[in-house]
Parts: sequence; structure tokens; C-alpha cells
Amino acid sequence: MEVSQVHHTYNEGIHVNQHPNPEIAGKFNDMLSDEEKRVREFQEFVDSTPNLNHQYEQELSMVRGSFAAEGMEIAPIVILHPSDVARALEIGGNDPYSDDTRGIYTHGRSLVYANPVSLGLFGGDYILSNALHESGHSTLPADRTRLFSKDTLAVLGAHRARVDHHVSVTDISGFLKFSWSTGEAGKPSAHVRNKFYEEGFADLVRVHMEAKLGRQPSIIPGSLTQPNQDGGSVRYVGTGKTSPLIDKKNGCVSIPAEYLDCTMPPTGKKDRWHVLSSQPSIAAYGITLLDEQSPGLFADMVRARKDPKAFADVIKRIEAIQPGLHRKLSRLDYTARDFQTGLEMIAGATGQESKQVGSVGP
Ligand SMILES: [Zn+2]
Repeated sequence: MEVSQVHHTYNEGIHVNQHPNPEIAGKFNDMLSDEEKRVREFQEFVDSTPNLNHQYEQELSMVRGSFAAEGMEIAPIVILHPSDVARALEIGGNDPYSDDTRGIYTHGRSLVYANPVSLGLFGGDYILSNALHESGHSTLPADRTRLFSKDTLAVLGAHRARVDHHVSVTDISGFLKFSWSTGEAGKPSAHVRNKFYEEGFADLVRVHMEAKLGRQPSIIPGSLTQPNQDGGSVRYVGTGKTSPLIDKKNGCVSIPAEYLDCTMPPTGKKDRWHVLSSQPSIAAYGITLLDEQSPGLFADMVRARKDPKAFADVIKRIEAIQPGLHRKLSRLDYTARDFQTGLEMIAGATGQESKQVGSVGP
């Protein structure tokens, strides 16, 4: 499978290069060729920079093996020093990522960021869990898809000044979808939709594959509550304990501890449990609940990675659970607070608010 190619999908038969207005067509052409150049330079940099893959050959072969067993093909996984990741993203024109970024799938490569602190705490488990998640993002036939709808083209024509700013920084892949809406004072504003589905899918792939590899992390005893910096909190429920899915009193949602990225038991009397959690795990549990309500939904998502049109079947299933639910989920942003809201919506729509969440344990 060729994954390093940049694909542009043109909605409703309009090829942007053939836009009736030559000025607009020219702008599109410039934008696309600039972008192709950046992608090429990014790939050349990543492929020629000494990577750390040889140190984690065991983990990487587990990742490749588990995807192959599921018939899912993935982009190359590259483990880099943090400074090389930062440089690669700069070359590729991605938004700057914060220090706690652990990995990214972009421009045909699944990059894993070798953060020394996390590596010190979790070792190879850290690489494995990140590589599984990032590879989950890369399971689609084309690296990137960019959609231009008729409406978008109309907006672009009317507000050309805004095009450069928004479109050129937007990286669309997987289930993500770029769209415009009318914001304040009738001005168009750009959005990337479906972040809940894309992150939830990649992370659920990670959770499933870790379980298949028998690499379930050591499950924490009891439970652990992680407050969000933007309000709300997530309770990871381990062995010997259950918790209601929605705990209204404490503004909290519960998730089985198997969804944690990494856990490490105390190594001495003075030590404590170390855990690594992520926002996508909240969305991943949401997708599990949707799949429980409509069995086959996750399988349809996997199918949609090969045939993006099949995502319509996923939407149909979600709309059958509760009309309007898809639209609400599709608009959530990539934050712990928004993903928690998504999980709460799903719990409400499936009547599972009081479901007792627990862990199967070791
Ligand atoms: Zn992700």
C-alpha cells in the first residue's frame, strides 16, 4: 500500500484546479504544491535522521504483527528523539506540539516521541502503547484526504483572505473532516470535525491489540481519579472496585483501568503506582459503549479505514441509537473535557448512566 502519497478528494466532481475563477484555481494550485513540497521534505528528514527503532525492535515487531493479523496496514513507525520530532514537525508545517506530546501520525509516518521521563518510568511499554495508538491513526488507504465541498468553494471565493490562514495549516486524515460554518457576524469559520471518532478509534485499536498481545498493563488496585485541567474528572477503575459510569455528584466519568496507556507498580516501599492516561482513552471507551449498543459498529469503523464511504454506516448506527447524537459527537474538540462530555452523551443515549464500571483484573 502506498501511504506516502498526498491525496486530494474533490467533492461533487469539482476539481479545484479547474475552478471557474482562475484566481481561486491559482491559489489552490499554489497551496497544494507548497504542501506537497513540505510533505516531501518532512519524509526525507524523518527517513534520513538516525532513529531509535533498533532499541525497540521487539515492541515494533509486536505492533507490525498485530496489525498484520487484523488485515490492517500501517504507515512506517519511527521512534525519534524529542528534538528531532520538533524539527520534523517544523519542516512539515504542523502546528507546534507541546512538550508532553507522545506521538503523532502525520505525512505518512507514525512518529513516536522518546520522552526520557516516561521511558524511565514505563520502558518498552511506553513505546509499544504509543506506537499502537499512532499506527491506529495510519490505517487508511491514503495518507491525507482533503475535502472541498461546493459550499466551501463558495466560501473560499467570497473570503479568500481567510483561506491561507485556515486551510494551509489543517491536516486531515482518517475520519477527520474539514468543514466551514457561519460564525459571528456571518463570517465563515473553519472546523475539523470527528476528533472524538478518530482519537477513540486509534485508542481502541491500541486497547484491543494490547489485550491480544497479553500486554494488559498491571491493573491498578482500587481506582484512580484524574482531574481534567478544564473541569471534570475521569476515574479509572481497577480491581476490587466498581463505580457508576456517570458520577454526577463528583462530576466524574468512570472507565475500566485497562484503558490506561501504561501502569507501573511501586518498586519499593517509598514508591507509588505510576500511570499514564490520555484523552483518547475516554473516547475509546465511548466507542466501546456504542459498539455494545450496536454490535458491529467498531467492525464497521475498521471497514471504513479501507473504504471511507463505509463511515456512513457508522453514522447510521449512531443515529439509530439516538437521532442527533452523531452531530453532537462530531463537534467535540480534542480535550479531556469535551471527550468526557461525549462519554456522558453516549451514556445518556444508551441508558447506561448507572452502569457499574469495573475492571476484569489480572
Ligand atoms: Zn491520537
